[in-house]
Amino acid sequence: MITVEKLVKKFGDNTVLKGIDLQVNEGEVVAIIGPSGSGKSTLLRSLNLLESPESGTIEINGVKVTAPKISKEEAYQLRQQTAMVFQHYNLFKNKTALENVTLSLISNNVMSKPDAEKLGLKLLDEVGLSKQKDQYPITLSGGQQQRVSIARALAVNPKAILLDEPTSALDPELVNEVLETIEKLAKGQTTLVIVTHEMSFAHKVADKVIFMDNGVVVEAGKPDDIFTNPKEARTKQFLKEYL
Ligand code: ATP
Ligand code: MG
Repeated sequence: MITVEKLVKKFGDNTVLKGIDLQVNEGEVVAIIGPSGSGKSTLLRSLNLLESPESGTIEINGVKVTAPKISKEEAYQLRQQTAMVFQHYNLFKNKTALENVTLSLISNNVMSKPDAEKLGLKLLDEVGLSKQKDQYPITLSGGQQQRVSIARALAVNPKAILLDEPTSALDPELVNEVLETIEKLAKGQTTLVIVTHEMSFAHKVADKVIFMDNGVVVEAGKPDDIFTNPKEARTKQFLKEYL
């Protein structure tokens, strides 16, 4: 479903992704872990071309692009396949929860306003926020805002949702409600790629764990193998510091 080959990304002369290969199958939940600065966000952002890679290929749901020459049309097609959930939610402050979820559907003429609202209400219900539909972000807790942003990601019916540390900006007592929402998602059909520092969550929910360090995939495998029986010294060291 997602295939990345030999992906290279530089910032100036700092090579941040050093030839990443990645395979994500349909319906799979993939957790990306690794130390700060290892390139996790850059990899995720490259998947929807928020970053422009120097070389390599990205294929999502049959849409394949080869860096660096990616046309606007190709970029548009690739971006249509995914939706992103950010650490800091990035909701529109002057829109209600429901409007945040329905905005792109209505403004891109994906569906009529009544249909978008019907879908929006259903999605807000799925993330446990029916009652808050008319509230503005500032009146919602961080966990609620993040759940609105998850509903917004679901609204565009993406082939995959990319989540970059969705709980790391939250107060500790709000982390679980968001993790539970993601876990519910994970049990469905949606393909998820999630960068996380929540190791026990990754262990429990992921089908595959990818350990990145210094711009490379050091080790990838089933959560039980990575967390209980890592092969690479760098993985062992990282987990020793984290667990
Ligand atoms: P963290 O766990 O702290 O979020 P990360 O694994 O997501 O880290 P990235 O944000 O992908 O790491 O950053 C990888 C490297 O790329 C870092 O050295 C960072 O300084 C650099 N980098 C990221 N974005 C930019 C940018 N826009 N301009 C220059 N350098 C950048
Ligand atoms: Mg990051």
